[in-house]
Amino acid sequence: MAKTWYPVVDYAVCVECGNCVAMCPHKVYDTAKAPSPVVKNPDGCVDHCHGCGKRCPVGAITYVGEDTGWIPPNRKQEAEEATCSCGCSEASGCGDASGKKVIVEYLYLDLQTCDRCIGTDKVLDEVMMVLTPALKLAGFEVEYNKIEMNTAEIAEKYKFLSSPTIRVNGQDICTSVKENSCGCCSDISGTDVACRVFEYDGANYEVPPKEMVAEAVLKVVFGQSETGCSCGEYELPDNLKQFFEGKKNKSECSCGGNCC
Ligand code: SF4
Ligand code: SF4
Repeated sequence: MAKTWYPVVDYAVCVECGNCVAMCPHKVYDTAKAPSPVVKNPDGCVDHCHGCGKRCPVGAITYVGEDTGWIPPNRKQEAEEATCSCGCSEASGCGDASGKKVIVEYLYLDLQTCDRCIGTDKVLDEVMMVLTPALKLAGFEVEYNKIEMNTAEIAEKYKFLSSPTIRVNGQDICTSVKENSCGCCSDISGTDVACRVFEYDGANYEVPPKEMVAEAVLKVVFGQSETGCSCGEYELPDNLKQFFEGKKNKSECSCGGNCC
């Protein structure tokens, strides 16, 4: 079974103090890379441990599978101030590229089972690892957040339209929603669910190519994007309603048999 709890470092925030690497006795981080925090052994992480996150002076550590409501210390106030009701950044005026703040948000349904959420997460991490230092060098403040849409209420709060979604300063990097059947999310919810297909250069991808993501981020930052802010009228799509209902029913089923 896939690991359901391990730390995720926001490299846009991390100051490479090395506290987390030194703190963890379970060899989750690669000590050879210290003080840079590189998660090498997520399987070693202890379920619901917040040890490294509590030691982080800048609140750069969150956890895959977080379900306790824990908020990284030193970051709570900033997150509350920076987030508008659609989940995008008011700090940058929901797509106003005139500011020097770049907020990249990754909204997803599942990082344990869903191949396209996991694949897109990896691509976005790789792109941000490269773009963040360059944007900082150009004088931008960069914030990179990952938010799990684990209930219909959270999805509505973020005006979530399709999984997975990448937003830059509140703008979806896709100009429209295109989806196909997603076997992973259908398994999770026990119902037919469709997830995002990314269109790039005349082809469709269930996991976007790095070029597409990098180009989309830079276009928003430098004001060339044709996509819009997601602050307008919103209703949770039926497809996602079905997903959340199916997931809830599965988790509540106590038949003990094979019905689920
Ligand atoms: S959460 Fe605990 S076990 Fe996991 S990496 Fe951090 S200190 Fe180690
Ligand atoms: S404790 Fe926080 S700031 Fe220090 S290296 Fe780890 S993630 Fe980076």
